[in-house]
Amino acid sequence: MEKAEIGLVGLGTMGSNLALNIAEKGHRIAVWNRTGARTSEFVAQAGPLADRIVPCATLEELMAAIEPPRPVILMVPAGRPVDEQLAVLGPLAGKGDILIDAGNANFHDTQRRTREAEGADYAFVGMGVSGGEEGARHGPSIMVGGDPASWHRIEKVILDIAAKYEGEPCAAWLGPDGAGHFVKTIHNGIEYADMQMIAETYGIMRDGLGMGAHEIGKVFEGWNRGRLNSYLIEITARVLATDDPQTGTPVVDLILDKAGQKGTGRWSAIEAQMLGVPATAIEAAVAARSLSAMKEEREAAARIYAPPAPQAVATAAADIVAELELALLAGKIAAYAQGFAVMQAASVEHGWNLPMATIARIWRAGCIIRSQFLGSIAAAFEAGGEIANLMVAPAFVEMMNQAHPALRISVGRAALWGLPVPALSSALAYFDGYRQARGTANLIQGQRDFFGAHGFERIDRSGPQHGPWA
Ligand code: NDP
Repeated sequence: MEKAEIGLVGLGTMGSNLALNIAEKGHRIAVWNRTGARTSEFVAQAGPLADRIVPCATLEELMAAIEPPRPVILMVPAGRPVDEQLAVLGPLAGKGDILIDAGNANFHDTQRRTREAEGADYAFVGMGVSGGEEGARHGPSIMVGGDPASWHRIEKVILDIAAKYEGEPCAAWLGPDGAGHFVKTIHNGIEYADMQMIAETYGIMRDGLGMGAHEIGKVFEGWNRGRLNSYLIEITARVLATDDPQTGTPVVDLILDKAGQKGTGRWSAIEAQMLGVPATAIEAAVAARSLSAMKEEREAAARIYAPPAPQAVATAAADIVAELELALLAGKIAAYAQGFAVMQAASVEHGWNLPMATIARIWRAGCIIRSQFLGSIAAAFEAGGEIANLMVAPAFVEMMNQAHPALRISVGRAALWGLPVPALSSALAYFDGYRQARGTANLIQGQRDFFGAHGFERIDRSGPQHGPWA
């Protein structure tokens, strides 16, 4: 039988769609799933694509079905399942074979697995895939980390299956070992911040302006035709416009306000902290999901604390909504600036040499945060020169100058109305902190020296100093 070009382990939501995408692009693929019945069911449902799919009952059969050197994609839950599969596949792999973890791995695990592979015959590749089920089937954004030789071996298949933005594939090799998974993690961190800030503007419209789901949906639909145009704004409008068929109520009004999280947002916040890079909007978004999960405690606290007394509003609702659009733009600039700053710091720390413009370019289609806005980020990095922070790149200075006054007003209004806007307000505080030439850390340094003799620098003299504390 004709050998397959590539193998795939794990025919769940992502794996099955990725396998169909690979077959559809003309590549013969061998597949294996832990629960064998799923493999036959998958092939039975693959229609004409089944001709290019080789179902395998065992991992030995899978390896034998692929043309060496054999690339095998693992699409199983992150963590132990990946190690379990590597423990079985590793000994079956020969020289030049490539085992590719395409799940949402923690990049530290990817670095460890890369080191472990150095003592074995196979090469290990950590590949971040974004775009959910639909992306996996029709074109995800793909962030690859590993050795360049492995990348060249799999490049054709990966570029073929990736989303295309104006014909350009949204997939790239980003650096060695954990580079791909790290970038995917930060993608998700930015996604958390983006979603949270969208939810905060929804909250102001719902609870501050008393607007209904459909009315708010129309606002997002309008925003999607402007500078906020993005997949997340588009789906927000669609979610808000959808009614529950049984009750006729907007579905969003029936959904429990407890958000789930699987770890990538939290990892982004942890890595930002470890690198000493402020990523306050991402951190606030992670914390907001945690707070959302404390439903019973929130209900109890709501019985203790009444909301602030209603304020007289002089501004027309339409103007408040227009301000929110700009506020969201300003918050978004700050949040993306934070995500890219974390990646820049990690790139130096791990010696990855991450290509920032390429990252922005491969996020323009296929992934969850896809938007026009990423084209502006790519252009800012492509313009050359050292960009200390996206907020000071010329194109963003102009946007920020137009938008930050509205962010300030919206955050202030939300505070007076007693509506939580943690991501928007921390984005504003980050912006104000970043643009403040003389901050207040002089006092922190004084306090630290007072209680711990930690020393400080003076503005009028060089060298370490201590204060004349009594
Ligand atoms: P699913 O739960 O849909 O599928 C999991 C697959 O892994 C199944 O085929 C399952 O096999 C298999 N599996 C589970 N545990 C083991 C194990 N211990 N050994 C071998 N196989 C195992 O997950 P998804 O497809 O959603 O996710 C896969 C990966 O992709 C995860 O890392 C996820 O974070 C990531 N991801 C998911 C996205 C999404 O939108 N869903 C988006 C981007 C990345 P069985 O049929 O036997 O249970």
